[in-house]
Amino acid sequence: MSEPIRRVLLSVSDKTGIVEFARFLADQGAQVLSTGGTAKMLSDAGVPVTEVSEHTGFPEIMDGRVKTLQPSIHGGLLAVRDNAEHIKAMEEHNIQPIDLLCVNLYPFEATLAGGAEYDDCVENIDIGGPAMIRAAAKNHGDVTVVVEPEDYQLVMDEMKAHSGSTTLKTRKFLAQRAYARTAAYDAAISTWLADETDQIWPKRLTFAGEIKQTMRYGENPHQAAAFYVNGDPRPGVASATQLQGKELSYNNLNDTDAAFELVAEFSDTACAIIKHANPCGVAVGKTLLEAYNNAYICDTESAFGGIVALNRTLDGATAEEIVKIFTEVIIAPDIDEDALKILAGKKNLRVLTTGAMPDPTLGGRTVKMLAGGLLVQGRDNALIEELKVVTDKAPTDAQMADMKFAYTVGKHIKSNAIVYCKDGRTVGIGAGQMSRVNSCRIAAFRAEQAAKAQGADQSWAIGSVVASDAFFPFADGLLEAVEAGAVAAIQPGGSMRDNEVIEAANKAGISMVFTGMRHFRH
Ligand code: 5GP
Repeated sequence: MSEPIRRVLLSVSDKTGIVEFARFLADQGAQVLSTGGTAKMLSDAGVPVTEVSEHTGFPEIMDGRVKTLQPSIHGGLLAVRDNAEHIKAMEEHNIQPIDLLCVNLYPFEATLAGGAEYDDCVENIDIGGPAMIRAAAKNHGDVTVVVEPEDYQLVMDEMKAHSGSTTLKTRKFLAQRAYARTAAYDAAISTWLADETDQIWPKRLTFAGEIKQTMRYGENPHQAAAFYVNGDPRPGVASATQLQGKELSYNNLNDTDAAFELVAEFSDTACAIIKHANPCGVAVGKTLLEAYNNAYICDTESAFGGIVALNRTLDGATAEEIVKIFTEVIIAPDIDEDALKILAGKKNLRVLTTGAMPDPTLGGRTVKMLAGGLLVQGRDNALIEELKVVTDKAPTDAQMADMKFAYTVGKHIKSNAIVYCKDGRTVGIGAGQMSRVNSCRIAAFRAEQAAKAQGADQSWAIGSVVASDAFFPFADGLLEAVEAGAVAAIQPGGSMRDNEVIEAANKAGISMVFTGMRHFRH
C-alpha cells in the first residue's frame, strides 16, 4: 500500500484546470509548493500555497531559468522512501519528500509553430521542468508525476479511491507518459536546431508523435494500428476536420493522404479518385463538376469505393454526382452548404475538410520503417526546371500542357507508372508493375476499356500523350504506347539507350520531351 500524498509541487505553463487540482490536493491535506506564476494564480484563487523559493530558501533567478534546480527539490523527488541512506541524506540536508509532481513545460513547440524569432525559441526551452519530470518519473515507485491537464482527473479519482494515495500501476503509467513527453519535447528542439544549422541529415534524427486515433485494425484485421500526428501544420489528413461518417480506417487515412497530396499539385481546379493509394482517375477542369466527371470516367469500375480528393470548395452539383456511387472518403479544402446537405444523406460517407491546400513545393521528410531502421528521405517536391524536346517533331502547346499534367500525375503513382492523358484528364493508368512495358500495356488496355464504357468507338489512348515516371530503358515500352495511339511522350531521359528510344520516337513520327527528373514511388 502506497503512502498518502503529503507534499506536491505544481509548476505549469498551461494553467488549465490547475486551480481545481491544487484545491483538491490541499483539501486532501497535502502541502502545495509552487513556482512564481503558478503560485500566484493559486493564491489568488485562495488555495494555500508555499512558493518554491521559500521552500528552498533560494530565489528564482535569471528570468526563471533557475527556479527549481535545487537539491532540496530534486532530493525530495528522487529519494527512495524506504532506503535508509536516502532517509539519512534527507535528514542531514533538510530535504523534505515531494510525493506528487505536476509540471507542463514552456510551450516550445507552440512558440516555434507561431513563427517566433530564434531568441524567443531559445528562451522557451524549459530546463527545470524536464529535469523534475525525469526525476519524478524515475522515482515512480514513490512519486506520482503528471504532465498534462487531461490526467488530473485520473489522479484525483485514484486518491479518492485509495485514501489519498495512488497505485504503483498508475504511477508507472504516468511515468511512461512523462518520459514520452520529455522525449518529444527534446525531439522538437533538436529537429529545430537541425534546421537552424542547415543539417538535413544530423547524426541523430528524432521523431515524435502524439496519438490522434487508435483504429479497429491496420492494413489487415489481425494488425493493431494507430494514427500519430507530429504537429506539422501542413493542411492534410492529420489536421483535417471530419464532418461526418464512420471513423477513418488505416487504409482510408493512407489513401486519403495520397489523394489529397496529388490534387494539391495543381493550381487549376482538380479532382483525383484513389484506390489503394494509386489514382484510378485524375482530371483538371473549368469546373469541379467537370474535373470530377472526367476523373470518374477514366475508370468507373475501380472508382467504386474510392477516395475523392478535390482542391476547391466542394459544391452541390459536384456532390450530387459523387454520391451516385459508393465512395469511402471525400477530402476537400472546404464544402459549401448545398453540398453538405447532399452529403448528409449518405451517413457512412466520411467527409473531411482541411481549410486550405498544402504547398506542394514545401520540403520536409518522409519516413518508412524497415526491419531495424527508418528509411528517411526528403519529400518529392522538386519542380521540373526545363523540358527538352528531343525529337524532330515538337509537341503542340496543348500536348505540352497534357504532358506536364500527366507527368505530375505519374509522380503519385506507384512505379512503374505509365499514364496516358488527353485534354487535362487521365485516360489510362498503369501502376505498380515490375515491368514498364507491362505498365504501358495495362494503361493502354484501361484506355480501351474506359472508352468502350462511355460508348466511344476507339480507344482513348489514340491521340493521347504518355508519361513515364522513369526513363524507358529500351524502345519497347515507348513502342507499346505508340501502338496504343500515343502521339507525344514525356519521360526523364537518361538511359544508356536514349538514342535508340529517340530514334524509335522519330520513326513513329511522335514528339518526345525529357524532364531530366525521375519520380519513382515505391
Ligand atoms: P510559473 O508560471 O509557475 O512561474 O512557471 C511554470 C513553468 O516553469 C513550468 O512550465 C515549468 O516547467 C517551468 N520551470 C520550473 N522550474 C524551472 C527551472 O528551474 N528552470 C526553467 N527554465 N523552467 C522551470
